[in-house]
Parts: sequence; C-alpha cells; structure tokens
Amino acid sequence: MHYDAIVIGAGHAGCEAALALARTGQKTLLITLTLDAIAHMACNPAIGGTSKGHLVREIDALGGQMGRTIDGAFIQSRMINTKKGPAVHSLRAQADKAKYSASMKNTLLTQQNLTLLQGEVSELLTAENGSISGVKTTHGAVYSAKAVIVTTGVYLKSRILAGEFCEETGPGGLMRSNHLTESIKNLGFPIMRFKTGTPPRINKHTVDYEKMEVQPGDDPVVPFSFLTDPDSVQITQVPCYLTYTNEATHNILRANIHRSPMYSGVIKGMGARYCPSIEDKIVRFADKERHQLFIEPEGLDNDELYVQGFSSSMPYDVQEAALHTIPGLEHAQITRYAYAIEYDCIDATALFGSLMAKEVPGLFFAGQVNGSSGYEEAAAQGLMAGINASLYLRGKDPLILDRSQGYIGVLIDDLTTLGTPEPYRMMTSRAEYRLTLRQDNADLRLTELGYHAGLVSEERYAALLQKKAALDAGLKELEARRLSLTEAEEVSRAIGAPVQSGTQLNTLLARNDAQLCHITPYLTGDYTPAVLRQMEISTKYRGYIQRQQRDIEAFLKMEHTPLPEDMDYSAIGSLRIEAREKLSRIRPRNLGQAGRISGVSPSDISVLMVYLKRHQGEEVQ
Ligand SMILES: Cc1cc2nc3c(=O)[nH]c(=O)nc-3n(C[C@H](O)[C@H](O)[C@H](O)COP(=O)(O)OP(=O)(O)OC[C@H]3O[C@@H](n4cnc5c(N)ncnc54)[C@H](O)[C@@H]3O)c2cc1C
Repeated sequence: MHYDAIVIGAGHAGCEAALALARTGQKTLLITLTLDAIAHMACNPAIGGTSKGHLVREIDALGGQMGRTIDGAFIQSRMINTKKGPAVHSLRAQADKAKYSASMKNTLLTQQNLTLLQGEVSELLTAENGSISGVKTTHGAVYSAKAVIVTTGVYLKSRILAGEFCEETGPGGLMRSNHLTESIKNLGFPIMRFKTGTPPRINKHTVDYEKMEVQPGDDPVVPFSFLTDPDSVQITQVPCYLTYTNEATHNILRANIHRSPMYSGVIKGMGARYCPSIEDKIVRFADKERHQLFIEPEGLDNDELYVQGFSSSMPYDVQEAALHTIPGLEHAQITRYAYAIEYDCIDATALFGSLMAKEVPGLFFAGQVNGSSGYEEAAAQGLMAGINASLYLRGKDPLILDRSQGYIGVLIDDLTTLGTPEPYRMMTSRAEYRLTLRQDNADLRLTELGYHAGLVSEERYAALLQKKAALDAGLKELEARRLSLTEAEEVSRAIGAPVQSGTQLNTLLARNDAQLCHITPYLTGDYTPAVLRQMEISTKYRGYIQRQQRDIEAFLKMEHTPLPEDMDYSAIGSLRIEAREKLSRIRPRNLGQAGRISGVSPSDISVLMVYLKRHQGEEVQ
C-alpha cells in the first residue's frame, strides 16, 4: 500500500505531523500502537505553562492543532507570571485528559487525506539510494512512502520502575515498542537512554480539601488559539489545590533513598534536571523545609487527582507513607503509583534544522524521541516535521525558524545544533530574544509563514494582514495625536499627575503611571482589544524592543551567512582539531549555527569568515 507520507506514533508530535501533512494535500498514514491513547497525557493533565504556553501559541499561529483542541477540552485556565513583564506571561490550562484525547482522535478521523491505523512499526525501509521508502509492521505489512516521520515518544524499549519493581511496558501499562530501536540503530543513528517520571494519582473522595489552599482559574479566560472566540471559553472551571511536603515527608524519603532505583543505580537513563522527582528534590535542595505540591483534577468525569511535584520511583510502601504526611492527603488512597520510565531516543544532532535525517533523505524525527520532554515541545517539533516533510515531497525548501522568530526556532536549534545530555525542557531563559518572542504576538511573527507553507487558510491570512495594518495605523495615530489643553487636564486628573498640553499619546502611554484606558478615549481608529494590546506593549517596551531588534540584526547577519553543505572542514588547517570534528559532524547551515556548536570558538568562526571571504570572493563583514 502506498502513501505520500507515513507518521509513526499518534502522540502529541505525531498528531501535529500527520495533520500538517494531510492538510497540505499529502496522502498520509498515521500508524500507532493503540487507538485508545491518542494524544495521551501520560503525565501532567495540563497544556502550557511558562514558555510552554509560548510554544502552543506558536503552533496555533502556524496552523497547528494543539491550541484549538485544548480550548475545547480544558477545565481550568490561568495566565501565569502576570506580575512580571509580558515576555513571560504564559497561559496554562488544566485539561480533561480523556476529552482532549477523544477530541484529537475525532479531528484525525475526520481529516481528509489521513488514514489512522493501529499497529506496531518494527522496521524502517530504505531504497537503494539510501532514502526512506517505507515501513514494515510486526504483522509483516509493508507500507511505502517517500517521507516517514518517527514520533515514538517514550515507547522505544521502555521500561517502568518503582523501587525493586521493574516492567518492560510503556507508560501506565500501555504496550511498548520492541523492535524499532534496532532498525533506527542500523541506519546509523546514535541511540541514547533517557528517563522521566510521573507522580501518583489519588482518589479525589479521600482528600481533605480544608487543609489545602484552593487555586481557582482566571476570570475571564483567555483562549490559546487565535481562532477561538473568547466568549466560547468562559466556562465553569474546576479548582486545583496547593499543599506542601514537610520534615516528616523528607525524613521518610531520606530514610529510604537507597531503595530508589535512581539512587541504587538501577536506572541508567538520564533524567530531566528541571523536572526532578521528589526524592531528587530532597537530596538536591536539602536545605528547603518544604516543597510545593499542586493537586490537579484530571477530568470532569474522572475521580482521580494528579499530585504535581511528587514524581517518584520510590517503592509503593514508601510512596504511601510519605504521601500520608502531607496536609490534606493524610487518608488519600493511591489509585496509580508513581514510577519512572526509561526509554530510547536519538541524538538529534543527526538531523538538519528541518528535522530531516542528514544521512537518510525523507526520514524525519520529532518529539520526545529527539531528546525533548513535554507535550508542547513534542507538538512543536511534530508540526515542523510535518510541514517540512510536506515541503520536501513538494520539492520546496524547508521552513526552518531561527532563534529570533520563535521559541520553536530555539527548541529545534538547541536540539539539532547542541544536542542534549538529558530530557530537554523549554524555558524562557533559553530564548535570548524573549521580549520579541511573546505569546501575545505569535500570530504577527509566524502566521504568514504558516500561510506560505500551505497550512493557513486565505481567510485567516487576510485577517492577519488586516490586524497588521490596524496595528500600523494605531501606532501611527499614537505618534501623531497630541492632547489639547482640555484633554491634558482630563488625563492629568485621571492619573493624578501633571500632563502637558501637546503631549503625544505614545509619550503618555509610555509613562508608568498611564494605562491604555487613559489613551483610548482620544483614539479615533476602531481597534480590536488584541490590536490595542499590541499598541500598548510596543509603546511601553519600545526602548527594550528596539535594543533587542539591534541584537537580532547582528544575529541575523551571521545567520544569513551560509556555509556550503559539502564544506571540507578537515582541509582548513587553521581551525582547531575539535572544531574541525564538530563542524564536520554537525554540518552547520550558516556561520551563526556554527558559532553555537559547543567546542567551536570565536576564533574558529573568524577563521571560517576569512576562509569564506578568500574562497567565495564575497565580502564577509
Ligand atoms: C511517565 C511519564 C512521565 C512524564 N513526565 C513528564 C514531565 O514531568 N514533564 C514533561 O514535560 N513531560 C513529561 N512526560 C513526557 C510527555 O509525556 C512527553 O513529552 C510527550 O508525551 C511526548 O510526546 P510525543 O508525541 O513525542 O510522544 P508520546 O506522547 O510518548 O507518543 C508516542 C506515540 O508513539 C506510538 N508509538 C511508539 N512506538 C511505536 C511503534 N513502533 N509503532 C507505532 N506507534 C508507536 C505510541 O503508541 C504513542 O502514541 C512524561 C511522560 C511519561 C510517560
């Protein structure tokens, strides 16, 4: 059976990849281990959070699905970090896990050009010229295609561990993928062993809520998707609760630390530094008297609760004893014990920035299999791999976002240029241009690129151009409009500080003591709340944004200095040996990427610039 493209795995990466392919006209097969765990939230029942909310907005801006699905399947929503600047404002929505999965399954099954199939892929097939040609399943079925995307998540040769207990399964007892690792290894990919963990689930009827702090959702709710009507998400929300560990909890964990497979050495896989287990926290932050735990609902019709912050691989008896020392959980019944999961993944430096394999044309990798961790990180890679597989099949250049265009650009550049020694989780601190890469302007930055990739409709693109034009007009009006004497007196009374007659509206808005509401009465243009928000941020942070823009221009100069794909770095004698090796293996696209490779020094970059100048006769500034 022949398809244009095949996607292996219907997790968060696979769903985005398959939809991007099918929505750009590619006949696509999505094959996955079980149709009952589509877009399964194996861990926290939430989408978004710091920097992850940015990724979801960017996925949506490019024409991806995650934002729209969560807007229809959330049970609580909060904008976090609102006390800080807009660069770190981030949406986080508590998901109804079952509803999210069912909704995504429905989207897949109703999508034209897309076939969904249950099965285990055991082998990647290649043609004589070394390019991908299809897949084989454990049932012996062969499906051919010119593009294949591997999004196998945490399932490759996975095993779960808690104390002395160990079992070769996927997460939560789902079946694992037994054969594909060998096939990937045979194609020359470096395989790594990573680990992550999940906390226990408890029966919601056995919790004492009086002893915990209630955490309500926002009112009003802000949707993730730019396409979602804000009125449609103003629902009755379900609260979360906040409680803390204490000395008694810590003592039990410390007394049994030797029984943790993490500390006994049974677990070989590298764990995520920024997603530590509770026993890790006790050891690494021994001076801390208590650790926060959020008690989160998993769904409206689900009586289980998720104990966020208590991920563990301790034996069951230790989990019980430790949990019962926590205020509110003294009598909590554990319905599913915490565990750690080890799994195989690849070193993503074997991939181009398009996520296509350097050595196997047409083969792409996305998601946790690339060494990242998180639904949002996976979905972002899945979307880009889907878009690029489609562009590859259409004989077009790939869409590679650079670090100044989006968190997605930062994520993929870090994975494919630097690689990662542990599960890579996105953070705002990773994005050097974060003031420009805000979640509120993702559409202004990326929707046009989604349109040219064929994933954003004409209608949506026209709406974007209208928004951009309105923003331009709005910023011009702020610049041109000056307050009359009467108006200045009015504003002065409103803000309780002197305002000069003739003050420009943008000058007034840039003041700390003036808000948008003090400006809008004097605007003649009819601006939407979204455009007004952009006018406010662009004006209040103008100085910082302009400075960052200068940094971005300097960055783009290096980024736009291409390096030939077939450059022979071993022939450049004045390069240091380590640099020659690293450059030959990573094969950077441009000088900017070359400069980010660990082991390539600034003096190596100068050598390359001189070499390019001499050999290409071009001015390299
Ligand atoms: C126990 C646990 C704890 C976690 N903890 C965290 C955390 O604390 N923080 C965090 O950010 N993230 C955590 N995660 C990770 C999060 O679940 C993943 O990041 C996310 O699900 C990755 O998405 P993905 O699409 O790459 O893969 P997955 O969601 O894992 O989906 C992979 C899909 O591939 C399918 N598949 C695999 N092999 C084959 C095959 N050979 N043939 C056909 N189909 C196949 C599977 O059926 C599955 O549908 C945790 C995951 C687990 C399991």
